[in-house]
Amino acid sequence: MSLKKIKRNNQKRIKKNLEKDMKQKMHMFDKLGEECLACKEKFDKTDGTMVSSWNVVVREDEDKVNLYCPNCWEFAQKIVKEVFNEQPSAKSDVLVEEQ
Ligand SMILES: [Zn+2]
Repeated sequence: MSLKKIKRNNQKRIKKNLEKDMKQKMHMFDKLGEECLACKEKFDKTDGTMVSSWNVVVREDEDKVNLYCPNCWEFAQKIVKEVFNEQPSAKSDVLVEEQ
């Protein structure tokens, strides 16, 4: 096989993968909810600012997309941090001990 042909095959494969990836993303985009999962604030997927500031959590195993507004996301992060700080047996703490 000539180098040119290999290159062309690779490009073909990359393009195919990209198309598949795009399709999957569009599919997930279709599944986007219309409101924040926590506070039920309306989400407008045609609003670019909203799309870029809201947090989308893709649960591929459940084929679901969870949507959180920036406020709820920040709150959730804080809770997660607090919970982990309160657990002495948490993995992250063990790692710190070893250092
Ligand atoms: Zn919210």
